[in-house]
Amino acid sequence: MAIEGLTQEQVQAAADTVQVHKFGGSSLADAFCYRRVARIVTEYAGASDVVVVSAAGDTTNRILAIIAAAKKPGDTAAILLEQLEKFQLGLINELLGSDLAQSLCQLSNADFERFRRFIRGEESISRDAELLAYGELWSARLLAALLRKQGTRAEHIDARDFLCAEDAPEPLIQEQVSREALLQRVAPYPGTRFIVTGFIARGLNSESLTLGRNGSDYSATLVGSLLDAKQVTIWKDVAGVYSADPRKIERVVSLPALDWSEAEELARLGSPVLHPRTFQPVNRERMVISVRSSLKVENQQTRIGQFEHAEPRGKVFTSLSEVVLFKIELNDKRLVDQLDELDLEPIFSWTEPEKHHQYLVFHQNHLDYISRWLEQIDNDNAVTQIRGYSMVALVGDRIQETDQYTTFKLQLSEQKVRRFGLGEHGNSAIAILEQQLDSRFLNRLHSQLFNYRRSLGVLVLGRGNIGSAWLELFKQQRDRINQVMDVRIIGIANSKRLWLDYGGVELNAWSADFDRLARPYVLTELLRELPNAPYDELVILDLTDAKPIAQLYPSLFANGLHIISANKRAGSAHESLYHEIRTIQHEYKREWLYNTTVGAGLPLNYAINDLRAQGDEIRSISGIFSGTMSWLFENFSADTAFSDLVAEAKERGYTEPDPREDLSCQDLVRKLLILAREIGLKLDWQDIEVNSLVPEHLRDISVAEFMQRRSELDEPMNEMLESAAKDGKVPRLLASFSVSEERRVKAKVGIEYIPAGDMLANLIPGENIFVIYTDWYSEMPLVISGPGAGKQVTAGGVQSDLNQLLGRLSAIS
Ligand code: ADP
Ligand code: ASP
Ligand code: MG
Repeated sequence: MAIEGLTQEQVQAAADTVQVHKFGGSSLADAFCYRRVARIVTEYAGASDVVVVSAAGDTTNRILAIIAAAKKPGDTAAILLEQLEKFQLGLINELLGSDLAQSLCQLSNADFERFRRFIRGEESISRDAELLAYGELWSARLLAALLRKQGTRAEHIDARDFLCAEDAPEPLIQEQVSREALLQRVAPYPGTRFIVTGFIARGLNSESLTLGRNGSDYSATLVGSLLDAKQVTIWKDVAGVYSADPRKIERVVSLPALDWSEAEELARLGSPVLHPRTFQPVNRERMVISVRSSLKVENQQTRIGQFEHAEPRGKVFTSLSEVVLFKIELNDKRLVDQLDELDLEPIFSWTEPEKHHQYLVFHQNHLDYISRWLEQIDNDNAVTQIRGYSMVALVGDRIQETDQYTTFKLQLSEQKVRRFGLGEHGNSAIAILEQQLDSRFLNRLHSQLFNYRRSLGVLVLGRGNIGSAWLELFKQQRDRINQVMDVRIIGIANSKRLWLDYGGVELNAWSADFDRLARPYVLTELLRELPNAPYDELVILDLTDAKPIAQLYPSLFANGLHIISANKRAGSAHESLYHEIRTIQHEYKREWLYNTTVGAGLPLNYAINDLRAQGDEIRSISGIFSGTMSWLFENFSADTAFSDLVAEAKERGYTEPDPREDLSCQDLVRKLLILAREIGLKLDWQDIEVNSLVPEHLRDISVAEFMQRRSELDEPMNEMLESAAKDGKVPRLLASFSVSEERRVKAKVGIEYIPAGDMLANLIPGENIFVIYTDWYSEMPLVISGPGAGKQVTAGGVQSDLNQLLGRLSAIS
């Protein structure tokens, strides 16, 4: 090919070396991103490669907002311009040394001056493209300057200097003219990296044009094809094309390869990952396209090309939350002819011959253009525009042969499907829905299509009674659980040592292995590292009684962990910490389950939450919430000294190491707080009236001394027993709270005298009882009773929480 002003060798050399890289707005969102792009351009691009850039961050949107605001009264446009100017000049100043920055700022100031004249009405701009073009121009100019500053030879090119097109909703590129102009510009300068503005082109009358939103992808393949490039790399903020839009769908999978036709279909269906026309200019024999991440260069990428594949497979799920549907009267022959002139392919169309209707579905972006066309053609109401429709589609070669196709169709049968069909090339299944798309529906559909079993890493803190019992239980339950999610224990820790293995620890001889393999650790340091564990979700099982761990809950949530606690310290923390825990939990959308903190394995929280979910209101809960106190009081009689019972209970391991923890009712206060908070009441320690059983003089002494002097407990206890007996009653340690109509809460913990025949007076020692009055259970309470402690039932309760968690995480919301 002979080109004026260039030798044949120059033309050839340009074609041989050139590769095109494209960086979108998200790759140029701030100064840090620019530096990263500059590094990629020097490290990953050859010396004569061409780089196509979009406007930085959301500059295009900002310019559009300024144009819209300028049409209205008020100073919004000026304010928006000021913000844009600050952003752009900020980038320049941050990236370039003072001299370079000064000259670039001067250029930009002249541009902004033009915007100002436009806003003041002193300069009319015939096309939005004239102003939109600045976005890409600023990026190209700045990136070239940054590269030069770093010692790389680079120049910027305004695409309007070479890319010539005929104006249309999809501008028609004048290839020959454009190619020559581009080669004249770049071929004489091998060894210079040219930074070209994406998105824009020049019209036949030298007017500015755009190639449509996200048009820089198209610019990149256009430039590639004009230069006969072998490779175009589209650098995005995503590591290639995924099974769905990661902004809408939670657990997408990345695709190493995509066929031309599949990528084309995906783009045609309006997926924002590639402009619909990206593949039009591509010579498939010669060119390879990669989509990869500019944020994480080392990540996988998607190569788009011609690949042999054995089996057809649905690869990408895509959706449009709003499409425009047009109903056309086929009887109107004139209109049918005029349709050809629309010059725009619908995303999907079908006819209903019996009704003489054709339906055309368009992308929302084309609404303005089509509306203008409709006004022109005077269609006598033969076209009806229908809103409120959406689209979902599954893209993959020979889609109809896949199981996913069947799943897709089946899952959609419960939706309001207006039309279901195949794309023209059989590589997409498309459904037009008469409904809005909600994220839950999309996520569910995606996970069903890609049948993705998610993984959960479990870190067990506390390997005491409950921890050990739970690990044994988990061992038995593992196979069943793993059908729901891939659940692995990634670590077991006591207060000093941790056995960590991200691959999942082997549980067969876990106790001996722990002794052998556990290493000293610091929880706060571990926390920083944990988010890197290769799991979709992580949960901490806090099976300790440690206050310092409860204090870490906010940062556990903030580091992305869910929590299952048997530890009461967080749920009963003082209001300030409790509030912080809840706030951070909600902010990071984490789960927190703690069913065993009250009543061990008893289904208390299920009952309460289920009643509330049905519409009932809890009025009061009272009862004996402590197994220890239940044991002590049910065995206490005139024949036995209370203090001896305390000693025996301690001996049997029924009490805390310091029995005063139980006797002072702290444990009960904790449970009461947790219960009250569970039903949404604001309650703190000082709101609870507590009558401790530990006399003042026994409070500040050592445990040993207390045990020695324990008989000093007996006199007041015997007095209690006797005075209760006078009325045929017995003393019991009760905890209770009640809520008045005005939602005032009364909560107390202390001795009450109960008629000897009452159920509260006749528990099996150790038994817990919860008496729940609600709006509906007002005559007769709902009573839940049973063992409120014990390692087996508690481990079972922890397992129940894990099951709940799995249910929530796998249901995908
Ligand atoms: P840029 O302007 O940087 O070129 P965009 O932000 O316009 O890039 O497009 C990339 C975005 O496309 C991604 O951030 C992602 O949210 C979205 N996207 C939609 N569908 C997909 C998909 N299947 N795979 C990857 N990204 C997708
Ligand atoms: N800056 C343009 C847009 O935002 C083009 C592009 O990003 O590709 O649409
Ligand atoms: Mg974009």
